[in-house]
Amino acid sequence: MEKKKFLYEGKAKKIYDTDDVNLCIIEYKNSLTAFNALKKDSIEGKGELNNLISSSLFELLSEKGIPTHFVKRVDNIHQIVKKVSIVPIEVVVRNITTGSLCKRLGVEEGKVLPRPLVELYLKDDALGDPLITEDHALLFGWSTEEQLLKIKEIALKVNSVLSEYFTGLRIILVDFKLEFGVDAEGRLLLADEVSPDTCRFWDRDTKNRLDKDRFRKDLGDVLGAYQEIWRRISSSNEDGAR
Ligand code: ADP
Ligand code: UDP
Repeated sequence: MEKKKFLYEGKAKKIYDTDDVNLCIIEYKNSLTAFNALKKDSIEGKGELNNLISSSLFELLSEKGIPTHFVKRVDNIHQIVKKVSIVPIEVVVRNITTGSLCKRLGVEEGKVLPRPLVELYLKDDALGDPLITEDHALLFGWSTEEQLLKIKEIALKVNSVLSEYFTGLRIILVDFKLEFGVDAEGRLLLADEVSPDTCRFWDRDTKNRLDKDRFRKDLGDVLGAYQEIWRRISSSNEDGAR
């Protein structure tokens, strides 16, 4: 399957049409952004690692019965996905307090939450992706009640599948962001990517940050952290632990 018409270039990926109207190709870029793209860089090899990691995690999620857009990885930087109309809401699930949650609410960093916290943000770069309530999503037509119920249910299932999986890799899944879309048949699917760009991963033993926080906070060796995540995932794939 070949790339046809170029559709969209975002901060981390490009999207292309294919011969099949229901499928598109995602190309993973090396660019890395933070703080609503105020901080930018490009790291050789980052796109490839995110493509490998996201493909593997989407395969795992599909195996666990989660409806996703993922079809297959084509090569190091491309994957085929079902084309969806993206619900303009970023869904964040948190297990441990950090990041914008602590900044916004003044709560202590690193606290294990009694249960996962689900937050909704409006996907709008110009507004800096503001936090919204379910009522905002419903009243302004960003999603339906039925979609919201499914979105929250799937987001919590993704959290339990990934938390258990990463525990086996001696990694703590601190928080992550998901996107959802609706396909040509009207099905709600988990879309976009699941990678160290969109998740916070802490090494269980050292608490080293193995994700984009290394870039956000200038901790150094960003690529090494992404490589370490891929190293542990690929060795668990080889062991058949999945
Ligand atoms: P951003 O737009 O946030 O800068 P990216 O660089 O990651 O993000 O670009 C990818 C874009 O593609 C995002 O806007 C995402 O919502 C969208 N997208 C992800 N999966 C699909 C899909 N299966 N079909 C259509 N669009 C998708
Ligand atoms: N996140 C993301 N894209 C965004 C905002 C957040 O992938 O546009 C992820 C981020 O990597 C983290 C989680 O969502 O895993 C929660 O991020 P937070 O709200 O703490 O935001 P940040 O600290 O990045 O401003």
